Amino acid sequence: MTSTIKKIGVMTSGGDSPGMNAAIRAVVRTCAFHKIKCIGIYRGYQGLIEGDMVEMSARSVRNIINRGGTILKSARSQEFRTKEGRKKAHDSLVKNGVDALVVIGGDGSFTGGMIFNEEFGYPVIGIPGTIDNDIFGTKFTLGYDTALNTAVEAIDRIRDTASSHDRLFFIEVMGRDAGHIALNVGVGAGAEEILIPEEDLGLDRLLESLEKSRVTGKTSSIVVVAEGDKTGENVFQLAEYVEKNMPDYDIRVTVLGHVQRGGTPTCRDRVLASRMGVKAVETLLEGKSNFMVGISNDELNLTPLERAVKGKSEIDKELIRVSDIMTT
Ligand code: ATP
Repeated sequence: MTSTIKKIGVMTSGGDSPGMNAAIRAVVRTCAFHKIKCIGIYRGYQGLIEGDMVEMSARSVRNIINRGGTILKSARSQEFRTKEGRKKAHDSLVKNGVDALVVIGGDGSFTGGMIFNEEFGYPVIGIPGTIDNDIFGTKFTLGYDTALNTAVEAIDRIRDTASSHDRLFFIEVMGRDAGHIALNVGVGAGAEEILIPEEDLGLDRLLESLEKSRVTGKTSSIVVVAEGDKTGENVFQLAEYVEKNMPDYDIRVTVLGHVQRGGTPTCRDRVLASRMGVKAVETLLEGKSNFMVGISNDELNLTPLERAVKGKSEIDKELIRVSDIMTT
């Protein structure tokens, strides 16, 4: 492959997710394979502005494929949102002889990358790294599969105590704007109800459904609630409302929170990260830029960053139907 690109920068930006390290490793090793240089940029766009970067070799990424988080650290940078900040970032790339950038992050990071590309004509490729799976143009984002498995395992444990004490548990999982985690985890963990931002079940329907379960002999139940669900103000108020209306239930609330973000990535996330890392570097070497690498029907694809940022990732309607049938 002959290309004008001789040095590629890689960074992680926004919220961390399991699989980011595997993607960094893949980018670094693909650069080594094609005999070009790779530079790791610390703390996302902020590190870029400050010139906080280090050259990476194939050996510098050993033993990281199995680690959660990101060895390059992640950050949110207010300064990069300004024109002056982005100018500093560009100067820093030029000074360090970096010809193109691979950004591993979520839609905010891609918006930044897209603006940067427009302003400086600088080649950028995005790899979707976020547990929320809320990015248009890819069926899966890095970290999503790990987060699902972590959450299902936690709920299995809660179910043990729920059934031993005949309790109703409200369990909040991550997903401020999207219910992908809640829906999949709810189906996978056999929840009695699943509340997601995309579908407002309504308080009355929730009470009705819980009452139906109680009458048919269920003594313990699990309700999975996405962080961004609008049925109640928040999961605690939701539980309070149900408690007031159904005093027979012994109710508890668990917020899974950041445990879903960390931990050893699943094999699926590691393989996806490896594939996406190779694709990102080779896409740049082919002279293409301003795309996000995604996956659909097990095939890698490219979506223009603008579409990835502006498009909406739809909730799986068939799975909603499955969940309706399972919770009968
Ligand atoms: P997550 O999905 O985990 O929140 P994210 O990539 O969406 O990840 P953000 O905090 O939204 O996380 O964005 C990461 C960084 O991208 C921001 O801190 C900022 O530096 C940059 N960024 C986001 N939006 C813009 C924008 N409109 N213009 C310039 N830079 C931006």
